[in-house]
Formats: sequence, C-alpha cells, structure tokens
Amino acid sequence: MHNKKGIFIFLWCIMLFCGCQIAAEQLEQGLSQQTESVSQTEDIEKAEVADVVDGDTIKVYLDGEKYTIRMIGIDTPESVHPDQSKNTIYGQKASEYAKEIFQEGQTVYLSKDVSDKDKYDRLLRYIWLEMPEDVNDEKEIRQKMYNAKVILDGYANAYQYAPDDTLYSLFLSFETEAANEKRGLWAENGLNQENIQKAEQQQQKLDAIEGEYAFIGNRNTKKLHSPLCSNLPKEENRVYFQYMQDAIDQGYVADKRCLGE
Ligand SMILES: [Zn+2]
Repeated sequence: MHNKKGIFIFLWCIMLFCGCQIAAEQLEQGLSQQTESVSQTEDIEKAEVADVVDGDTIKVYLDGEKYTIRMIGIDTPESVHPDQSKNTIYGQKASEYAKEIFQEGQTVYLSKDVSDKDKYDRLLRYIWLEMPEDVNDEKEIRQKMYNAKVILDGYANAYQYAPDDTLYSLFLSFETEAANEKRGLWAENGLNQENIQKAEQQQQKLDAIEGEYAFIGNRNTKKLHSPLCSNLPKEENRVYFQYMQDAIDQGYVADKRCLGE
C-alpha cells in the first residue's frame, strides 16, 4: 500500500516534470518567434524626405540630422554628375520619376542590408514608402520599396555592390521584367545601347543564377567565377560549369572576389 502510493507520487512527478518541459519549450519557441519577427522590422528607421538629388539618391532628416542616402541595389542614369558629359536626358527623366514619388516632408522607412555607409559617407539603405510587415516578402518589396519600384517601372538598372547585394538576383529579375515590357526608359530604345547590352548580359547571368550553370570559367585565365561576379569574362571566353569540381579538375582556380577561398 505504502509502496503503491510511492510509485504513484513518483509517476506524478515525472508527468509534472514533462509537462513543465513541454510548457517551457513552447514558451521558448514562442519567445524566439516573437524576437525573430520583431528583429525584421525593429531596425527600420523612420525618416523625413528633405530633397531628391537624382533617381537613386535622396536626402532625408533622420533623428534631426540631414543625411544623403544612396539607395541599395539600383543605378539610374546620371543627371547631376560633376562631369557634364555623363549627364543624359534619361538621367533627367529618372530624376523626375523620383521627384514624383518623393515629396518634401514625406515619411519614409529605411532598412539596411549589411553596410551602414559607403565611402562617400552616404547611408546605404532600402527606402520603403510604407512600413513593411515583412522586409523579405516579395509582394511587399514590389509594392512598397522604392528601390524595387524604380527598377520595375523602368527607370533604374539593378546594380550589384557587395556586400550589400542580398536582393540583387530579385532586382535583376525585376529589371528583366521591365525591359521585356518596355516600361519607362526601356520604351525609348531601352535607355541606350550600352544598357541593352547590359540587359542581355544580365539575362545570361539570371539564366545562370536560375540553376543552369552554377560557375563561369574564363578559358584564357582559368579563373572560375560565380555568375553574380562583377568581373565575368567576355562572352566568347566563358566556359560554363554545373559543378565546381569539374572546373577544378580542368585546372580552373576560384576567383577569390566572388567565390571566396
Ligand atoms: Zn569573380
């Protein structure tokens, strides 16, 4: 009798312990989910538009100070370059596009990729026209992020500048979409010849990213590159590989700039 009661208490303790464990795990999971979703938007800075410099640069007030923002992942034709010969009618149009979107005093939301500033001390940011709920959601990126909209509307090229290139392949696909549909500046002979060529190269890069080829070698230098590398060999010198080992077996050496060690 005494013994039975002892066993009962023992089992009851085990059940209690397990119950606590499960509850503790659930609590922990709940907490970590919460911190994850918060951390996505907690880094977003609220700012006020001061001026538009050009299609990919604006000035904002942030915490009472004025900053220049270089928008991540995009490049628009020049309109205010100190070297006048670099400024084009297309740069002017890209600048007008930005001026239609950004009004002085407008609230915008800024998010970072990796870096805080570039070498010219400009803030490197994605600019959201509305507060996003999930900064990684493609639908929200398309609808609310200026960096994406300006490419989708055909006023900017996708631009890769490591390490702030998390959205580069997405932006490349937006550029292809805009170019194919001849939106914005693409309607006017695709910005210019140089950009048409760039778009073709980017389509090739995109094909490579989408899995046909994972590596691109240079048959002359025997260097092996990522399809995202900014120093890809000329088309006629390219050799495509699906597996790195195949390239290494043929004497190729990984380019440290794009493939690490
Ligand atoms: Zn490379």
